[in-house]
Amino acid sequence: MALYSVKMRASENGRHISGAEGIVSDWQAHRCIDQMLRRGWGHPKGRPDLLNVKVEQVREEEILYLDALPVCTVEVKDADEGREEIRKFLASLSLGNAEGVMKLLSETYAMRGAMLLDVDTLTRLEPDKERGIRATYMDGRRDGRAILSGGKDPYQEAVVLATKVANAPNVIGEICISDDPGYVTGYVASKALGYRRVTKVKEPGSEHGGRIFLYRGGKEDVGQTIAYLEKQPVIVRNVRPLGPKEKAQGKWGFVEEGLRRLKEENLERGMKAIQTPQSSVIRCRDRELLMLASNNYLEMSCREEVKQYAAQALLTYGTGSGGSRLTSGNLELHEALEQKIASFKEAESALALNTGYVANLAVISALMGKGDVIFSDELNHASIIDGCRLSGAQVVVYRHNDMEDLERKVRTFPCRKGLAVSDAVFSMDGDILRLPEFVRIADRHGLISMVDEAHSTGVIGRTGRGVVEHYKGVCRPDICMGTLSKAIGSEGGFVCGSARLIEYIRQKARGFIFSTSLSPAALASSIKALEVLLSHPELVVSLRENVSFFCQCLREGGYAASSETAIVPILIGDEKKALEASEALFEEGYFISAIRYPTVSRGSARLRAALMATHTKEQLKRAAEAILRIGRQKGAFL
Ligand SMILES: *Cc1c(COP(=O)(O)O)cnc(C)c1O
Repeated sequence: MALYSVKMRASENGRHISGAEGIVSDWQAHRCIDQMLRRGWGHPKGRPDLLNVKVEQVREEEILYLDALPVCTVEVKDADEGREEIRKFLASLSLGNAEGVMKLLSETYAMRGAMLLDVDTLTRLEPDKERGIRATYMDGRRDGRAILSGGKDPYQEAVVLATKVANAPNVIGEICISDDPGYVTGYVASKALGYRRVTKVKEPGSEHGGRIFLYRGGKEDVGQTIAYLEKQPVIVRNVRPLGPKEKAQGKWGFVEEGLRRLKEENLERGMKAIQTPQSSVIRCRDRELLMLASNNYLEMSCREEVKQYAAQALLTYGTGSGGSRLTSGNLELHEALEQKIASFKEAESALALNTGYVANLAVISALMGKGDVIFSDELNHASIIDGCRLSGAQVVVYRHNDMEDLERKVRTFPCRKGLAVSDAVFSMDGDILRLPEFVRIADRHGLISMVDEAHSTGVIGRTGRGVVEHYKGVCRPDICMGTLSKAIGSEGGFVCGSARLIEYIRQKARGFIFSTSLSPAALASSIKALEVLLSHPELVVSLRENVSFFCQCLREGGYAASSETAIVPILIGDEKKALEASEALFEEGYFISAIRYPTVSRGSARLRAALMATHTKEQLKRAAEAILRIGRQKGAFL
């Protein structure tokens, strides 16, 4: 697998705004570049007029793998105490002239790179004194993931850099003070001592920062040290995020710290209690709002005949099923629903599970295990990801909806038993799987093919039967799973396939076996909703027309929207701006969700409009105008 060094630098009028780098594998490179571009583009310091992204291949055998330096934190009460810590560090290196080194710190303030200092003679060794030495070509890994390109964490970046520097030939230590006026924490590091964070090394607001690499060795070896620092690709393993001080805070410290971090990163989530049924207009916090965030695409959960049928089942069979399916909880309603689903999906057999989430966990972990390989789209739903993890199989992630990449990965990771799995409609982007190629590749390589129809059932295909119908029945995956909680308006998950496959899942899937089965009212509403869908194909048509009209309104307003499904993402990028836009829209009477990490990757936060068949054109037109206006006010559109 090829690896690439990716570097980004953003500047305005020659002034440095932001920079980032990483070393990633070829299939991660496009995402990494994308994230870096967003980072450079959306930096609070300003809008760059020059954004430079450099991508270079690095050979695997050139890479030096290092373990992250051990970290400890020294709490100090002020910058004076912090400087005392630096002196102690220098003393531990038994330098002849530690005070001389301290004095030279101020000479680094104007430099972009670091000073390389001969500690015995106090000679500066950088060939270019203004530029200094730049340690570069590095990244860190945690659980196999590249961390430098993943998002801004000055602490983890510093650990990666310090680890590389501490391992440089003839470098005996490093002193670092950040030039960021808001960041007063500094560090000293050496291979022997590890990475010592010092909580205050300068006054808040001060831009006086710099670094010194402490060199001890012959003059003839300086070139080798500089070449290592500036050219040697290094990957630092086991970089840990800055741990909360769990011990000091008692056993619940991690809870407080976890919540604090979410808030700080604008990733905290809130819930709004809705006071009405989930229709196109709702009440929430005592105000009326246009619902643009519901998966109840066909307003099925509010339909009179569905509610009546469910109420009747509730009165007939009671509130709960009383057991799991394989014990006492198998009602005739379960079997009736499964027949309906199988017929609707034109499958030999179907099985109902408690939710779509459980269906993915149960099915994937029943079919795949250790030694097997699962090929999974990078934007697959969390329930697929969790199912893959639970299975214990090797998971190979391929680029989003990129069938060439899937084929390449399938060839690279041959397996005795394998699964290719994908959302049919991607839940946060609203695009549709390239099913014919997907199935062809799986078939050609003997893989089981599986699609998740959560957002395609009741939405795509002429009569709402989903992705197979969308492609006019030219191909069919081995397994279709889906949910009854979205367009079907009820609750539950399902899986369809051959009779033998379904029998196997029934016998093996723990999420099916060890959980109480669906309740009568949920079963009955799903049964009725499927009947309604079959007899009212105009619902699907209305939904499709609404989406196309809404996208057209957005396009006329200058935002390039398009979607063939019920989901219209409006990309914003920054988490905070997305959240503010969603709140401002709420104030104006529009209920629309801001989708953020971890549902989507960091820096790709968005408003996710979900349309319903029952929205009127007038409502959608006004909504599109409001979204565009507020989006622009927030300076949000990329
Ligand atoms: C919503 C969703 C699920 C989970 O279905 P639930 O019934 O809500 O648990 C699974 N996969 C995808 C793609 C989804 O969007």
